[in-house]
Amino acid sequence: MAMTITEMYIEAFKNKTIGTEYTRAEIIKIMSDAFGVAEGSILPSDLCYNSSNKGIEGNGKPRLFLKKGRGLYEYVGKDYDASKVNPYEFGTKPNSHDVIDVKDDVTFPYIISVLNECFGKHMKGKTAGQGWYFRHIDDEHMIWFPKLAIEKNGAIVPPPDSEWLNIISEDGTRIIEEKEDDIRSGMVDGEGALPRFVFGRTWKPRVYKFLGVFEADKERCRKGHWEFVRISTSIDLTEYQNDKKLIDSIDNFYDYSRKDEKSGSDENKALFDSDSDEGYKKEIYETCHEILYSGITEDISVEQSAEALLKAVKYNLKIQSGALVHHQQVTHFENVVKKDRKAIGKIAKQLVLSNNDEQTFNDLIKITGKKYDLIGFIFFIKDCERYLPVRSSIMDGVFTELNIPFSMSGKCSWSNYTEYITIANEIRESIKERLHRNCELLDAQSFLWTLGSESFKDYLTKGKHSKLLNKKLNRKEDAWLVQDIKEATDEVSIVEPKDAGKPVKRKQPKYVDGSRTYPRDRKISLNALALAGYKCELDESHESFIKRNSNVRYMEPHHLVPMALSDEFEYSLDREENIVSLCSNCHNQIHYGKDADKLIRTLYEKRKDKLHSIGIDIDIETLIDAY
Ligand SMILES: [Zn+2]
Ligand SMILES: [Zn+2]
Repeated sequence: MAMTITEMYIEAFKNKTIGTEYTRAEIIKIMSDAFGVAEGSILPSDLCYNSSNKGIEGNGKPRLFLKKGRGLYEYVGKDYDASKVNPYEFGTKPNSHDVIDVKDDVTFPYIISVLNECFGKHMKGKTAGQGWYFRHIDDEHMIWFPKLAIEKNGAIVPPPDSEWLNIISEDGTRIIEEKEDDIRSGMVDGEGALPRFVFGRTWKPRVYKFLGVFEADKERCRKGHWEFVRISTSIDLTEYQNDKKLIDSIDNFYDYSRKDEKSGSDENKALFDSDSDEGYKKEIYETCHEILYSGITEDISVEQSAEALLKAVKYNLKIQSGALVHHQQVTHFENVVKKDRKAIGKIAKQLVLSNNDEQTFNDLIKITGKKYDLIGFIFFIKDCERYLPVRSSIMDGVFTELNIPFSMSGKCSWSNYTEYITIANEIRESIKERLHRNCELLDAQSFLWTLGSESFKDYLTKGKHSKLLNKKLNRKEDAWLVQDIKEATDEVSIVEPKDAGKPVKRKQPKYVDGSRTYPRDRKISLNALALAGYKCELDESHESFIKRNSNVRYMEPHHLVPMALSDEFEYSLDREENIVSLCSNCHNQIHYGKDADKLIRTLYEKRKDKLHSIGIDIDIETLIDAY
């Protein structure tokens, strides 16, 4: 039986040493030496635990590598414990960065990931970032991706793919760019004089690392030698994220679609019309598409074709929950058909039997007038994966709301329609990224439609809405944290918490499989345990064991005010003040025990002043309810 590519990989690598790093070229060589496989079919990133966002769950396929940078892979074998792998490390992150700081050691796999994640660009494909080595990012800043020098036989030289020697000083405050035969002048005048955001590319691993904001040190510049000095170690990225408005709207939409959910309900309620019980648009599509494609064939007369199209258009009025074309436009269309059945029939045949869509669109305008909703609907029922219904009057307001410079009212034309579809597809990508779930083109339309609805606007203005987060997911996140702490070997020296006794704004939520949760910082939990002296805060005499790797007593961190309540507060709940140290017996009891409320009361009395100091005010009954 023929081997699959994956089986070939396993075979070719079975005697290789775990932990060895390979370049893509080396992997290709190993595979083609062993099996003569064509280069194009060897895609190591498909077998990476951390590639794209399929890392942890995978698709049932065995995996062999960890991606270490562009074109660089570590062979870790198929039995590797991938539970700690960050699936986003080399893919899209669900949250964009707000501030980027040199001290955080931020790296990106590609130029395009810098541009998209930090600067709100929407570039697709890894090569789309090329040509960005030195460019304007806005009117006042350039962005620069120098290829940093490497060490070779004791000498500092340019990396193999560059002629430029870019050296960063040891303390990171200065960059020198050199090339002996450089003939360029004025490198630091004009645009070159603007402050530049610098992401230096390292050779191994091949990643782009944020180095700070630099400016030319003109005094020291001469032909062939350019010097730059660091003027800032961080960038506030919020103003670059022009899709912030869209992201906020997606978050609001998410909350809105779950507003009727009772607290603690784990039901993964449908987000969009097309996957909800009232998936009426999808139903209209399916029925009308069927009417068109069974009613119109090569050997059906034009008169009958006109009838089929009319029948499909009229069908949408039958839907109680909301017709996609207003009945006035339907009546108008009916009259047009009566007047010129043959012409409409010809257009109907062209619609169904050809792909000459632009022509069909223009023919429809000619015969029906600029009836945008009607024509949009006719295209939608042709193919819902490529076309959408239109409600120009509603959509205009939505686009304004989202800061998208686009409008539809009175602009019925093929080019306006295709632009609308393009925008909807971009929004669809944003929804996918933000909510980390699938989203069809029609779902993007439902999203826009919802944003324009009165009840959504009501919700936003009057909205005293309960926004409880998915409890089950939060329990899982708590369990991961405990597991993480269990295995932690970090040296913990007690540190006075940063901003102790002061409120700190909460972080951005993140989405896991379409459910929202808030990130927990393990360092804060570790510190909280240290502050408690690794004793159970319910009773110091409770026994526990000494951890193998770190010589301290094993205790578990517990967020007294559950992280699931984060949306209720302006400030972070992931603070030492809110994290109690519990022995594992007490920890289980507080979550699952019959008399848990007694424990909660005891801890609440101990902590309520501290909670107040960090901006968390909650009464005991509400707290008990939240468990
Ligand atoms: Zn807990
Ligand atoms: Zn205890």
